[in-house]
Amino acid sequence: MSETLRFVDEDPRVRRLNAAKARSKSEGGEHVVYWCQMQRRPKDNAALAYAIEEANRLGVPCVVYEAIRPDYPYASDRLHAFVLEGIADMRAGLEARGVGYAFFLPRNKSDSRGVLKKLAARAALIVTDDYPTFVVATHLEKAAEIVDCALVAVDDCAVLPMALFPHEEYAARTIRPKVLRAQAEWLRPLHEPKVKLAAKARLEWPFDPLPANADLAALLASCTIDHDVTPVTDEFPGGAKAAHARLSGFVRRKLSGYIVDRNEPSRDGTSHLSPYLHWGMISARAVALAVDEAGRDDGVREQADSFLEQLLVRRGVAFNFARHNPQHTAYAGIPDWAKKTLAEHAHDERPELVTFDAMERAETPDPLWNAAQRELLRRGIIQNYPRMLWGKIPMLWSSPEEAHRRVTVLNDKYALDGRDPDGYTNIAWCFGKHDRPWPERAIYGKVRTMTSRSAMSKLDFDDYLAQR
Ligand SMILES: Cc1cc2nc3c(=O)[nH]c(=O)nc-3n(C[C@H](O)[C@H](O)[C@H](O)COP(=O)(O)OP(=O)(O)OC[C@H]3O[C@@H](n4cnc5c(N)ncnc54)[C@H](O)[C@@H]3O)c2cc1C
Repeated sequence: MSETLRFVDEDPRVRRLNAAKARSKSEGGEHVVYWCQMQRRPKDNAALAYAIEEANRLGVPCVVYEAIRPDYPYASDRLHAFVLEGIADMRAGLEARGVGYAFFLPRNKSDSRGVLKKLAARAALIVTDDYPTFVVATHLEKAAEIVDCALVAVDDCAVLPMALFPHEEYAARTIRPKVLRAQAEWLRPLHEPKVKLAAKARLEWPFDPLPANADLAALLASCTIDHDVTPVTDEFPGGAKAAHARLSGFVRRKLSGYIVDRNEPSRDGTSHLSPYLHWGMISARAVALAVDEAGRDDGVREQADSFLEQLLVRRGVAFNFARHNPQHTAYAGIPDWAKKTLAEHAHDERPELVTFDAMERAETPDPLWNAAQRELLRRGIIQNYPRMLWGKIPMLWSSPEEAHRRVTVLNDKYALDGRDPDGYTNIAWCFGKHDRPWPERAIYGKVRTMTSRSAMSKLDFDDYLAQR
């Protein structure tokens, strides 16, 4: 096994989305386009590496097309700002590698019409990111129908390719042994191919590329998106550099206390890398390698393994659920036993009925839930333990179907890391997915119960409540 991760024939990361063959130079293929949808980083990016290798093989340059549309569900200043802040790192990193780069910011829906088709007309091949959920999964299907050049999706979502697990896994415990067996093969640094033919400094694009150093506030104001969901970039600046700085800070300061602190709301003991992982500003591989390396120090192994369990196994089973279960974003995606028991308790008396608006404004009868919701509104994240309570408690205030819908909407709308397999899977977990039946209780039936009262008796929420 070589030290770095290289592409092989029939590589499980590579999925051909149409039957077209790559166009040679003589057939009009001017460059290989990497259409960057999810893995927004200029290095350690398998789709980009594949695009560069194909460009080298075809004797053409590689160029990167990155965009963020204004018309996807929940597009807001918060999400746009995070992505736009990452452009400088993309530009600098790609130009240093000899890869052409342009960012397209359509201001409204009609601006973006036809761009991909025009890019395809001059491309030898388009390489893009494989991703199993939200708008990207649909973009991939639609793109395969409209482009007339070869279209390939490369999976760099988790450390292990999704294709290694061809069926829906029942639970973390069923995927864990498979992950552990394959881990050594996949947990290696990516081979970074060198560009043979650098892209021209000035390229022609079928849109106006965003100039360097454009004013962020003016850009946000010019887009038809939700301006009420405001940026959180003071605490979470977007971009690959910020992602790597957060990783090293976590490894240096927090990893050694991870097992206990990750569940201590007042200690904020997790990495908060999920926004960066979601937007691809850092690879799961880079995070896992850094933590694994730190785990070689005395006394940190157990902490590192506990972190890797989350990153490799829990995240792995989440991507597996999203890839194989078309209902993963919906209540219909929870297991039959959970649907049955929740239906049996659907008419149990609720302590109070709470509206969606009251939830969104963090004005429910539960102070702890409100604190978690305020954290989501202000920081764009919720810490690990309060997030589980935040997902479970709404079943007390409405039907379980409605509770599932509300939690999904709030998570997707406000969380920097929302709209992600981890989010949909963990919301489903709150309703019994990847879990087992527990002793039967009112309202929750056999679905695991979590209440603010029992959480507060076990854990210290004083600082958490005071800070929110
Ligand atoms: C109701 C609810 C909604 C959630 N929504 C999201 C979401 O939208 N996006 C999201 O990324 N996570 C979500 N999670 C899962 C989990 O809470 C977060 O992944 C984790 O808290 C992110 O914080 P961190 O990066 O500091 O995690 P760390 O503890 O530092 O873990 C590092 C990484 O491991 C992975 N990870 C950790 N815990 C889990 C888990 N339980 N399941 C899957 N992967 C995990 C994540 O990629 C995370 O970034 C949700 C959980 C619940 C209960």
